[in-house]
Order: sequence, then structure tokens, then C-alpha cells
Amino acid sequence: MGEPLPANQPKPATKVTFSDLATWDLLEDLPVAVYTCDKDGYITSFNKAAVKLWGKTPEANKDKWYVNWEMFNTDGLPLKSEETPTGRVLKYGKAVKQQEIFIKRPNGTTSYILSNPKPLFNEKGELTGAANTLIDITEQKNAESKQGMLASIIESSEDAIVSKTLDGIITSWNNSAQRLFGYTEDEIIGKHITVLIPEDRYNEEELIISKIRANERIEHFETIRKTKSGEEIQISLTISPIRNSNNKVIGASKIIRDIGRQKKSEERLQQYAERLEILNSIGQVISAELDIQNILQKVTDATTQLCGAQFGAFFHNLVNEQGESYMLFTLSGAPREAFEKFGMPRNTAVFHPTFSGEGTVRVDDITKDPRYGKNAPHFGMPKGHLPVVSYLAVPVRAKSGKVIGGLFFGHEQPARFTKEHEQLVLAVAAQAAVALDNAKLYEDIKQLNEKKDEFIGLASHELKTPVTSLKGYLQIITRNLSPEDKNKALAGRALEQVGKLTTLISDLLDVTKIHTGKLPFTYADFNVIRLLTELREILQQTEPSHQLVLNLPAQELIINADSQRIEQVIINLVTNAIKYSPKADKVIVEAEVINNKLRISVQDFGIGIQPDQLERVFSRFYRVENLASHMSGLGIGLYISQEIVTRHQGRLWVESIYGEGSTFYFEIPINTNDLHDA
Ligand code: ADP
Repeated sequence: MGEPLPANQPKPATKVTFSDLATWDLLEDLPVAVYTCDKDGYITSFNKAAVKLWGKTPEANKDKWYVNWEMFNTDGLPLKSEETPTGRVLKYGKAVKQQEIFIKRPNGTTSYILSNPKPLFNEKGELTGAANTLIDITEQKNAESKQGMLASIIESSEDAIVSKTLDGIITSWNNSAQRLFGYTEDEIIGKHITVLIPEDRYNEEELIISKIRANERIEHFETIRKTKSGEEIQISLTISPIRNSNNKVIGASKIIRDIGRQKKSEERLQQYAERLEILNSIGQVISAELDIQNILQKVTDATTQLCGAQFGAFFHNLVNEQGESYMLFTLSGAPREAFEKFGMPRNTAVFHPTFSGEGTVRVDDITKDPRYGKNAPHFGMPKGHLPVVSYLAVPVRAKSGKVIGGLFFGHEQPARFTKEHEQLVLAVAAQAAVALDNAKLYEDIKQLNEKKDEFIGLASHELKTPVTSLKGYLQIITRNLSPEDKNKALAGRALEQVGKLTTLISDLLDVTKIHTGKLPFTYADFNVIRLLTELREILQQTEPSHQLVLNLPAQELIINADSQRIEQVIINLVTNAIKYSPKADKVIVEAEVINNKLRISVQDFGIGIQPDQLERVFSRFYRVENLASHMSGLGIGLYISQEIVTRHQGRLWVESIYGEGSTFYFEIPINTNDLHDA
């Protein structure tokens, strides 16, 4: 706008030239707001765009140039009317160029405005007012701030964000891209995207570009890219087409996420889970194991695997019965000969910290360790020793704190063992120590048990000879005494007691024989009915308190078995039946044949057996607790009976109602000729 506007409102009122009118018409429809005001600031003329900007049509001689705006500078501070661009023009008579202000209308709407007021003068050169053009730059400002926001989001993004043309030329590059790939913005912009792609993956780029051209997006495409240093990294790509204002695809933006770390942590998690599982299963396996050598082997194998060693060894210190210490060892990943020819590890500077329990030794290269090579005769590893470079050794301590051994691992490459490996081995070592403690206790108990068995065997053997002689002498005495002699009854009673003693001793001897697998059997045919009938005669005399009822088949019943041993079983069951039914007066013995098997049952009406004891009564030296004092016994009768029946290919069992009585059964094949192992 070169010429000053005529000061008319709303249309020029004074005389105007044709060119003035033409200019005014032109201004009226211009999208830019235009107004003029007099020197006091009252609006004298304006166009449509100005009305729109003010938000109302100004009233003549009432509204000044700002109508009813509130005005602010670019920092958001309020402007007094004389501080506004037009105010300053009216005050100083000088044009103000392109000043940005922010306005607020009474209805709350706001705009950014670029103001260009110029002074108007009359012919005399006196200031008569101002003319202003105002451009609404709100949209542009918003777009700018949006742009700025986007730019700062891109810059602060954790992901690398890169854009490129359809020809693959890189056009933008954010901070994370620099961090991830190592190139600065200056180095990379203008370069071809293939600088980031490993050669064997160039075809991926063609595929990506063809999709982008087709206006398609690619999401979470996992691949490998190359950094400035040549390192290949795992990334995930999301690529979107960039369109121009005509919606034509002109390039692509890429979001590149480094998934190497994520992959690594996934792998680590997986590894942890696996190790936990291994640790758990080692725990289970070794705690169920009571054999020392097996525990050592399992622990060695598992720990060698856990720490990725080439070879592992477990040396376990033990003390024998004579109090001499010795060492057991197991190996994993190396043949036994590899160690045996060098003898056991000695208390050298390298091994000392482990066996003395000082602590774990983990060395990246043992051949460079100051402790290495200090001791004669080998001064280092003996010739032909496994090539150990990485070295890890962990002491194994018993609950008492005493070092009971050490776990040793080796690898021919340096720096193979980490802190984590060390901790894993320590965890297993703790479990191993408990398992070894248990195995040791078990071993001790086993030895004591064997000693006890040995003693019982020896004692009963030593007792047998004098008792047999005693029995013989008593028999002679009884025979030589006349029936009237009052000592005859006493001698008879003594003989009876010696008989019981003999049975006890031979039972104890039987137990020893069963234990050593030497209980002899002699098989022959005999009539069970006769055996039972004769037995009743004898038992009825010695045990008059109970009536022995026999329920037998009518015909004779021949079986092939060891009659003395079968008799021993029946006597044992009947004497138990009588002993454990002190308040009853009857015991029923039955014999029958079922499925070619002889079944004998002995039923009493006594104290009975509780359900949880039913199986245990057949164990060696087992007696139900809290039996009355007169129910004496050693707890071996049923054990021997079961052995006898089992050796006849039969079975022995009991049914009982606690407090009402028990029935013991045994069953053996009628003809064991083909079966027995005489
Ligand atoms: P002992 O009778 O010498 O103790 P046994 O081996 O014959 O040894 O029996 C083992 C245990 O089984 C007995 O101590 C007793 O508790 C229980 N028992 C055996 N027979 C009977 C029975 N008929 N009634 C109740 N309990 C019995």
C-alpha cells in the first residue's frame, strides 16, 4: 500500500479520484485486514478482513484501532495502547515494520497478528493518522509450534528416527540415531541408506522401498544393521511413507529400535530360568542320594555344565575308621587318568586357599597368577596336565564349617568364569555339603547296624553251645529222676525254660542267616494235616490258657516244603495269637486249599493291630509300642516267618480289627518242587 488511504468510514465520503475508488474496492475484498485511523486513534476506514479480525464492526468516532482487543507482546506481556505498533506510529510518526502481537477478543478467541502500521500526513506534513495492514499468522504460528514440538519429540526420542528419499538418500537423523549408529548428522545426511545395511541384506532395502512406494507401512521388522564401527546390531524397524501436500509419496521415515539389549535380557532371563531349574533338579537329585561317590559325580557333572568349564573335579576329604584321612574324587570332562598320574592335589599355593577354606579362587589366567608355579616338584602344572588357563575353585564346607572338599574347574581359554558362575557353583556346593553330611550319617548308621548284626550273630552263636549242653544235662537229670521225686517237676520246668531260650537263640541265629543270605531250607513231601494235629497236641500242653480249635480238610494234604520251617511259622503265629490275646481263651487255626495253594490262617480275639502298624509288624526287631510288660518278645518272629514263606514262593499277611483281634494268613504253593531254590 503505497498511497495513504482516504480517511473515510466505511467507504470514502470525501471526494475521491477514480484510482482511489479502484484501490479501495481492491482493499475491501483483500484477505489481509486494512484500516486507517485519525491521529487520535479513532478508526476512519476498514475492510471486511479487518472486521473479521476485530470480531465486530467498529463504530465511528467511538472505536479506536484496537476496538476491544486485549493486546500482548510475543512474551505474553500486556501492551498498553500506546505501546502497540499503531500507538507508537501515532506517538512518534514513524512506521513500524512487521511487528508481531498477540490479541485476545472479549469472546475469548485469540490470534497472532503481524502489524504493519504507517503514519499518514497532510500536505503540510502534519501527522493526520495511521494506516495499518494486519496479517493473521495464527495458523502459521501454530504450525510452527507443532513443528517445533515434533522436532523436540524426535530429538528426545529413545528410538532412532531417520528419514530418507525414495532414492534412499538420508535426509534427517536424530540424536538417538547418532547414539545407535555412531554417525553424526553432518556425516550421514546426504549419504545413501545402504551405509547402514550389511551387504547380505541389501535386498531388504529394495523390498522396503517398493512397499513405501505403494504407500504401505512396515511395522516391527526385525533385522540387522551396521554401525559406523562395523558392528552388527539387532534392530526393529517401523517405516512409514512421507507424503507431500499432494499426497504423493516422496520419502520414508524410519523408527529404529535397538532390540539387542532387549534380546539379551530375554536371553538372560531364559538362562536364569534354565539355571534355576538345573539348581533345583541338582538339589532334588543329590538330596535323594546317599552314596557318596554318586553325589560327588552328580555334583561335578552339574557344576561343570553350569559354569561352562571344559573340565571339573570334586575332591572330597574323608577320614576312615582308623582315623586316617583320604580323598575321594570325581571328574567331569576329563578322563580319570588325566589326574591319577599326578596324584592328589597337594597343599600348594594354588590349592591352599580352597582346602584351607580361605575362600573362592577365580582367576582369568592361572598361568599368570603370582601363586602359580611356586611349588616343587612341578613348579606349575605337571607336564601333560590338562591345559588349565581359566581357573575356578570353591571350597565345600560341612554344616560344622569344616572344609570337606573342593570343587575345581578349568578351561584352556582365559577369562571364562564369571562372578555369576562362581555364585552358581557356591549354591550347588552348599547343597552338596548337606547331601554329603547326610550320606556320611547314613554310612555311619549302616556301619553301626552291621556291627550290631555281627554282634548278634556272634553272641547267639556263642550262646548256642552252652545252652545245648545245658539242655542235654537237664534231659539226663529229668530222665534219671523217679516220677515221685519232687525235683522232677522242677527239672521239667527248667527244661521248658531252656527250650524257650533255645528257640530265642536259634531265632537270633536265623536273623543273622537271613541277613547274610544263608538261611538253609530242606524241601520234602509231608502231610500238613498230620503236622497241624501233632502241633496242637504239643502247643495245647505248653499253652493251656487257650483252646486251640483246628478246622482242617477231611483228607490228607501233602505238600512239598521245608516241614520244620513251616512248623516254625505256625508255632510263631499261634504263640503270638495266644500272647496278644491275654483275655481270650480261644485261637482258631484253619487249613484249606485255594487255587492249588495251601492257605493256613491263625485267628485270635485279642488286642488287634492298628491299621498303620499292619505292614510294619513284619520288619526286623519291630514291636508295636506300649505293649504290656508281660507281652515280651524280640520282634523277630514275624520277620523270620515272612522270610520262610517268601522263600517258599508264598506270602504272609494280616487282617486285624484293633481291639477285637487279628487273623494272620500265609499261603504257599502245594508243590514247590519246580519253584523252590533248595
Ligand atoms: P514279638 O512277638 O517277639 O514281639 P513278632 O515279630 O512275632 O515279635 O511280632 C512283631 C509285633 O507284631 C509284636 O511285637 C506285636 O506288636 C505284633 N503282633 C504280632 N502278632 C500279633 C497278634 N496276634 N496280635 C496283635 N499284635 C501282634
